[in-house]
Amino acid sequence: MSQSLQETPAEGEMVALEAPTGAEAPPRVLDRLGPESGPILLIVAGLHGNEPMGVVGLERALSRLRAIGAPLSGRVIGLVGNRKALSVGRRFVDHDLNRAWFADRIELLRQTPEPSSPEDRELLELDREIEPLIQQAGGSLFMLDLHTTSGPGPAFSVLEDTLANRAFALNFPVPMVLGFEEEVGGTLSHYLCGRGVTGIGFEAGQHQEPFAAERAEAAVWIALEAAGLLNGDLDELREARQKLELESAELPSIVEVRYRHAISGGDGFRMKPEHRTFQPVERGQKLARDRSGEISSPTEGLLLMPLYQEQGDDGFFVVRPVLPVWLKLSALVRHHRFERFVHLLPGVRKHPERPGAFIVNRRVARFLTLELFHLLGFRRVGPVGRYVVLVRRTYDRS
Ligand SMILES: [Zn+2]
Repeated sequence: MSQSLQETPAEGEMVALEAPTGAEAPPRVLDRLGPESGPILLIVAGLHGNEPMGVVGLERALSRLRAIGAPLSGRVIGLVGNRKALSVGRRFVDHDLNRAWFADRIELLRQTPEPSSPEDRELLELDREIEPLIQQAGGSLFMLDLHTTSGPGPAFSVLEDTLANRAFALNFPVPMVLGFEEEVGGTLSHYLCGRGVTGIGFEAGQHQEPFAAERAEAAVWIALEAAGLLNGDLDELREARQKLELESAELPSIVEVRYRHAISGGDGFRMKPEHRTFQPVERGQKLARDRSGEISSPTEGLLLMPLYQEQGDDGFFVVRPVLPVWLKLSALVRHHRFERFVHLLPGVRKHPERPGAFIVNRRVARFLTLELFHLLGFRRVGPVGRYVVLVRRTYDRS
């Protein structure tokens, strides 16, 4: 159970944040290893400053990799995300660094020599490291983004549902969470996916749990192999797989987000104690409360990322298992470009201004229509109202 659960602060009062404060910020670049040629693996940890275990795990894996001198077929770069927030043990100082990666915003910031927000300065420094990699890699840039959660639970991956990301994610023996990016905007992984980078976010457990660093370290070893940098017979790699497999044996291999409970600062949102990721929940089950009263799950499924910290916009998510056969089917229909015929369905029309986008009238279209769009590799943009806009992910051919 996290610290903030035991203390029950008055509504609106800032909770004592979990990470130790006053720590020295780790360097921006933890290490770079391997030759200039071949694929590139970019690993980022600590985009959220109250998630130091990802940085610990990344640092351990990279120094071990350097120590054993394993031959690499490409380059790996380990970057630290929100250094300022890490040094004070907060998710962020001014705004969430993992909700700020919008191409037009980044372009504007590049023309601002000294932005006033600490997170804007962090973003610019990261951009200076990452942009050249995108230019150099020529399409074989892979990305692993390490995180932890405020509530307890086993590891899982979060990814944009492209065929390349799926193939990469399947190397990690943890549940894959799809549909997250439809709910949350401005993440580094969404931005990079739009730039043709293949990768996943990896949630390694609870913020202060020492085992979270081990899961993060395991994810680094697996990513090195999945990106084609390492060959498969290292002890570190075998141990990494075993560690993650042990915890995920009973869990579904793929789930998709069915509900997000969004919160804002003034809500007084408080999760009921003792909830954890992948715990089954029923429709109508009371999970939290805020100023307007009790909050129940609108649907049955599995709970994901119950919020037990003051900073953050997501109270909790509910996910449901996806049958692996659904993934096979969707790969098949994407290869055959079935989206050419989708506008023939009732309630579906082509977007008048956005090429490749569709507008679905939910009063006319059947429930399965949205599922069909997901199957075809589309993602929803904007809110769920009577009309829903769906666009196809740019880099989705394998
Ligand atoms: Zn995070």
